[in-house]
Amino acid sequence: MKFISIVVPCFNEEDNVEIFYDSIKRVFDKIQNRVMFEIIYVNDGSTDRTGAILKRLSSENKNVSFIDFSRNFGKEAAMLAGLEAASGDAVVIMDADLQHPPELVEQMVNEWLSREYDIIYARRTDRKGEPFLRSWFSRNFYKLINGISDVQIANGASDFRLMDRKVVENILKLKERNRFSKGLFEWVGFNSKCIEYSNIERNAGNTSWSFVKLVKYAIDGIVSFSTAPLQWATIFGFFTAFTAFLYMLYVIISTVIFGISVNGYASIVSFLLFFGGIQLIFLGIIGEYIGRIFIEVKARPHYVIREQILSEFKTINEDHKELSRV
Ligand code: UDP
Ligand code: MG
Repeated sequence: MKFISIVVPCFNEEDNVEIFYDSIKRVFDKIQNRVMFEIIYVNDGSTDRTGAILKRLSSENKNVSFIDFSRNFGKEAAMLAGLEAASGDAVVIMDADLQHPPELVEQMVNEWLSREYDIIYARRTDRKGEPFLRSWFSRNFYKLINGISDVQIANGASDFRLMDRKVVENILKLKERNRFSKGLFEWVGFNSKCIEYSNIERNAGNTSWSFVKLVKYAIDGIVSFSTAPLQWATIFGFFTAFTAFLYMLYVIISTVIFGISVNGYASIVSFLLFFGGIQLIFLGIIGEYIGRIFIEVKARPHYVIREQILSEFKTINEDHKELSRV
């Protein structure tokens, strides 16, 4: 029998985590003759009762693990902690707010059991309920990042996905601190299949993504997966240097022929301001890369765990692995 780990990052999800457990259990009850499952809840420094509820859930259910962070480290860190703790033959990552329909998990498991695909990911086909401007920025962000990096991320592709053990092992080899998982999942490759679904609004609570956070996330994605912005500086530099050279010839020749005129105040001030601004922008871009080098070099841990209760399946799974090898 195959064994599946479900990783669920949770930040202030007190009204969702129990409903989530019940709906996942219903799905797995249907396919219990083929697969077993464990849930790994990662409490990412919630300030509500999420931690207490999860602790109770894990003490009541043998197949529930609970990892409690010492503070909020962000969803990327929570997903990483879950992947590291997961021992399944495949791992599914899901949000706790029921925006990722649990019924799709059954479809993912079936596709995976057919052994044709190593990754089965879900993609929302619409952005119902999302502000227009936010959708517009998202769409164009995907166009941009796909245009300037090696990875191709589908618009609407979420972290909701099933990954075979070999995919997970390779993702865990990527130790970078600035984790942009959407890109990392693509970067490792493997055969993937897309399942489409229509957007669902969150069950209870609020999204933790403000517009500013999304812009920062987009910059993170671009800087983590592309050095194109640095090349833009070089290309722009060559272009302006060449144009400046032509202008210089013009100024020299006209001075020799017509003598020195005192006109030109407006153009000098415009050039000064314009190129001052451009230089600051490119300094900022270089700064984005240097800042990330700084964070990588310090090599701090991705998260700090206050407490963890691991599912008893952890040991059962070790036996089960022995069995499947025989
Ligand atoms: N989440 C987390 N840490 C954070 C923010 C969010 O673990 O700092 C979790 C959250 O509990 C949820 C998932 O990440 O399970 C997605 O978050 P959210 O629903 O706020 O994002 P959205 O669905 O709006 O993209
Ligand atoms: Mg959500």
